[in-house]
Amino acid sequence: MRVAFLGLGIMGSRMAANLVRSGFELTVWNRTESKAREFGDRHRATVAATPAEAAAGAAAVITMLVDGSQVETVLRAAAPGPDTLVIDCSTIGPTAALEIAAEFPAVRFLDAPVTGSSPRAEDATLTIMVGGESADFERGRPLLEAMGRLIVHAGPLGHGQMVKLINNSVAAANAAVVAESLLVGAKAGLDLDALSQVMAAGSGGSAMLELKAEPMRRHDYTTLFKLEHMLKDVRLCLEEGQRLGAPFQFAALTREILTAAAGRGHGDDDFAALIEPLEGAAGIRL
Ligand code: NAP
Repeated sequence: MRVAFLGLGIMGSRMAANLVRSGFELTVWNRTESKAREFGDRHRATVAATPAEAAAGAAAVITMLVDGSQVETVLRAAAPGPDTLVIDCSTIGPTAALEIAAEFPAVRFLDAPVTGSSPRAEDATLTIMVGGESADFERGRPLLEAMGRLIVHAGPLGHGQMVKLINNSVAAANAAVVAESLLVGAKAGLDLDALSQVMAAGSGGSAMLELKAEPMRRHDYTTLFKLEHMLKDVRLCLEEGQRLGAPFQFAALTREILTAAAGRGHGDDDFAALIEPLEGAAGIRL
């Protein structure tokens, strides 16, 4: 199957590499062309100069960009032909996914955002939550299975996006709680190794404790998932909640913490950097 892959950032480059490894015939495009050429040098893929060149004759077009307006602009430029399967893996929210799908009525559209940062994109163990019709999901399944391990058909178009927004808001709120727990512990003069060890073994444990406590303690914000992208996801979740009349107060609080961290210049850092404004508030540096 010939596949066009548009967007070779932290996640897209790794996901596209796994499609090549699984034997798909790939044509790639990236806004910054040097990254696409570098990808083409390292993997068996054709490099296209434009989204349209990548999509021409492709049975499927996969996008991995940042937000809805980028996906819309790039898909307009790609102009996928009738019956092309378009799989958008970016996190753009359900409203944007539905609007974009409506703009391309002749194509088959799946929203398929992913969770798991770059290490899981690298080893093809992402979780992928998919919205769309069952027949389209089945058509896209071999591609999705080449990039992820747990592939969940969440429901109709947009439901993959909504699941993703809720999941990331929980993760972000959780990361903020982990940060504050470390700060309270430090102020109490605790051995933070002991605190982390006990929490990890019981009801205080979480994926965020496991993944982000150490980077927070070392102030190592090597980017696995950009803070500004996490802020986008929490903001989109709150917008959906507001539209539905469903409050999500912990997400709202976390949005402000992420905003404060972005305001301190950490937008491109990993979202572990949300500890920075919390350290400021606590008057302590780990
Ligand atoms: P990234 O490293 O910043 O890559 C973004 C990609 O979008 C790059 O290919 C970039 O091209 C392209 N792009 C940015 N602005 C563009 C524009 N105006 N027009 C066309 N292309 C544009 O981001 P990422 O971490 O791969 O994340 C991609 C998506 O996955 C986001 O929606 C994010 O929320 C989601 N996500 C990320 C993670 C994670 O852990 N990183 C996990 C799950 C989901 P250039 O190379 O030219 O900049």
